[in-house]
Amino acid sequence: MANIKDYKIATLGSHTALQILKGAKDEGFETICICQKGRRKPYESYKVADQIIEVDDFKDYFKIEQQLIDQNAIIIPHGSYVAYIGAEKMMDVKAMHYGTKGILEWESDRTKEREWLLDAGIKLPKIFKKPEDIDRAVIIKFHGALGGKGYFIANSPEEFAERMRDYGDKHDGYVIQEYIVGVPVYSHYFYSRLNGELEVMGFDKRYESNADSIGRVAAKDQVDVGIRTTYTITGNVPIVLRESLLPEIFDMGQRVVDSSKKIVDGGLFGPFCLEGIIDPELNYYVFEISARIVAGTNPYVNGSPYTWLRYDEPMSTGKRIARDIKEAIEKNEIEKVLG
Ligand code: AMP
Ligand code: AMP
Repeated sequence: MANIKDYKIATLGSHTALQILKGAKDEGFETICICQKGRRKPYESYKVADQIIEVDDFKDYFKIEQQLIDQNAIIIPHGSYVAYIGAEKMMDVKAMHYGTKGILEWESDRTKEREWLLDAGIKLPKIFKKPEDIDRAVIIKFHGALGGKGYFIANSPEEFAERMRDYGDKHDGYVIQEYIVGVPVYSHYFYSRLNGELEVMGFDKRYESNADSIGRVAAKDQVDVGIRTTYTITGNVPIVLRESLLPEIFDMGQRVVDSSKKIVDGGLFGPFCLEGIIDPELNYYVFEISARIVAGTNPYVNGSPYTWLRYDEPMSTGKRIARDIKEAIEKNEIEKVLG
């Protein structure tokens, strides 16, 4: 039988690296953390990395990649991996890669992402092609905006024009999306090609500055001080969803997996997340998909209420990934977790 000792698990030191590496160690793998200089402390302190490889910048990943290949390491992609390696370069990764690489291109491109979700029958916020068409509250999202930074809300073409003056041409384009009034819900899924089953791992909402602090200030003060809503991500808050919503949540995830098989060879597998807003009529509008582990799973290093129901043991998404890889190795089906 193939042995997991012949493989290592590696990831970039940021985003969800702690739970990925901890989960890998708990499943019996040796781990490698690729850290930016001066940022290794958490990975040492929490004792999740058997080995640390330092780089000046994550963009230097390709300079150290051969070390991963030599050690038979499987790299686990996450949000920082996608953000810092970049969609164009991801296809050049030569090390063993958990998950279908091609799907990350679909999640990083808003137009492609929309096509995929529409095919899966997911409800999406309306897109306004031209600022002149704005006839309701909209949210403006800049391309490549990191973690919601710089997003703003406008209610009319005039307000849009006024706010855009702050940005001039210092941006790479944007999308104008209908602003959905409701609560944000991020649904975490896991799909394994080994058993063909879709799991719901948990839910979170983001903790965003200053969107999540505006309610702490009276409306009058908001206006007087000229507070403008921004969505810079600072952390994640666990939530449990009304149980009657679960059948639809499972169904949406399954449709996304089914539809992914039409767009990319091998389809989507491993962890993914639908990110959206639930309105008072309980419509779930999805504005984004992440086709890899999301940081909203970080509160659940010891498992979520949902993984507890299924596993009766602590099961983080990081550990679930390692288990998928371990089972694949032991069944001699490693190709089912690589892409
Ligand atoms: P970082 O490594 O923290 O600079 O994050 C890299 C990318 O992952 C950015 O695009 C962030 O928006 C995203 N990200 C980081 N942390 C979180 C989080 N807690 N929740 C959602 N997204 C995150
Ligand atoms: P994103 O970077 O696309 O995940 O969005 C960052 C944050 O902006 C989300 O967590 C929401 O709080 C908010 N947001 C994004 N799109 C919408 C939308 N269409 N309607 C309402 N809020 C939104």
